Amino acid sequence: MSDEVNWAGNVHYASTRIARPTTIDEARELVAGADAVKALGSRHSFTGIADTSGIHISLADLDVPIRIDAARQRVRVGGGVRYGELAQYLEQHGWALANLASLPHISVAGAISTGTHGSGVGVPSLAAAVTGLELLTSAGDLVVFSDGDPDLPGAVVGLGALGLVTTVELAIEPTFEVAQTVYEQIPFDAVTTGFDEIMGSAYSASLFTTLRDDAVVDQVWRKARTDAAQTPLPAALIDREAAGPRHPLPEVSAAACTVQGGTPGPWLDRLPHFRLEFTPSNGDELQSEFLVPHEHGPATLAAVRELAEQLRPVLQVCEVRRIAADGLWLSPSYDRDSVAFHFTWTSDGDGVARVLPDLEAALAPFSPRPHWGKVFTPRPVEAWAELYPQWRRFRELRNRLDARGAFRNDFLRGLGL
Ligand SMILES: Cc1cc2nc3c(=O)[nH]c(=O)nc-3n(C[C@H](O)[C@H](O)[C@H](O)COP(=O)(O)OP(=O)(O)OC[C@H]3O[C@@H](n4cnc5c(N)ncnc54)[C@H](O)[C@@H]3O)c2cc1C
Repeated sequence: MSDEVNWAGNVHYASTRIARPTTIDEARELVAGADAVKALGSRHSFTGIADTSGIHISLADLDVPIRIDAARQRVRVGGGVRYGELAQYLEQHGWALANLASLPHISVAGAISTGTHGSGVGVPSLAAAVTGLELLTSAGDLVVFSDGDPDLPGAVVGLGALGLVTTVELAIEPTFEVAQTVYEQIPFDAVTTGFDEIMGSAYSASLFTTLRDDAVVDQVWRKARTDAAQTPLPAALIDREAAGPRHPLPEVSAAACTVQGGTPGPWLDRLPHFRLEFTPSNGDELQSEFLVPHEHGPATLAAVRELAEQLRPVLQVCEVRRIAADGLWLSPSYDRDSVAFHFTWTSDGDGVARVLPDLEAALAPFSPRPHWGKVFTPRPVEAWAELYPQWRRFRELRNRLDARGAFRNDFLRGLGL
């Protein structure tokens, strides 16, 4: 074993070593010579999704220059590049991505492979920006999926099962500015009744609740594009603006957070909650997240609130976000405008394992899809095809691209893949 762990330290990788090829040919040789192999991104997943008993391959050093195609509004980038670096490059050249996750530290290929998302009623997952990708398969072929290819929507959220994503093409748009404002101590009932209004009141909005005080939701973060028509402030947020910068976690300094207080700034310095040069979130934590159809948002929030007493001992904070539907086969927001219920837990794995089944049972009526990179309880394999209409099609694609099963791991086997 390589002695390597994921970002949270809860997954001890079973790989024998981590290789860092700088060329496609080197990567091809590594893949061809391995019975078991897996791409490793920036290790921010909390599940065993990135694990392998064979060789880990990091594409962080792969020599792929970032190329902007201004006429087509596209950027081509290596799969191992972190969003933070890509965002800085785009901004320097006057361009932007429509969306970012709460942290810029994650790799592009790792994020799209797991359906990673930010928040916004009109903003889909980060993977939805993909217009093409190149995949190195276990047979050593470099397969190109271009815009319009019927298999591209299957290949994007690939769970690391299909091969090494060497390059990705993403849609870009001219740079824009965002003003971020935090509101706090909002009456819980007002949030439940005004849920859609609050979530739709800015380009991106997030609710944070610790469930410590049943009467209030701790914070609402609104990120408004300055080039869009401004929506009136929802009644629930009037006179609730925070007096200074806030961290989503109580009693944690806001130094790691992006600028708040309504001061406009470039998209890359406002859309993530956390700044690239700092540790995001707490650092000592586990995470789970479940996406439900948007119409179930208020009822799901009420169900989570009902469980407050049980969740509290292991909960640091729960974040609620909106994600627009996409057409990517294994995306948790596939074909559903979604509300995501995220839980930042303490690092008490046993405690989390004890509360998760009850949380999942409470959410079950709302057809929740778990985030692939965050902790969830195993389900019978038949359950996945019910949740994902294109599940069998994905399995066929995987069988075609990884016929010898080199990219399979225990996580995928647990899903019946
Ligand atoms: C503090 C923190 C905050 C987070 N915030 C958010 C958030 O706001 N929104 C959200 O949705 N998620 C969030 N996450 C989860 C995180 O975005 C996902 O787990 C994401 O997959 C991380 O990307 P990574 O580069 O770390 O991938 P890894 O965890 O390293 O890998 C994930 C999967 O991608 C595959 N993969 C990686 N690179 C490649 C490649 N080149 N080719 C093929 N497959 C590849 C791996 O094999 C694996 O299957 C957060 C996680 C943390 C720790």
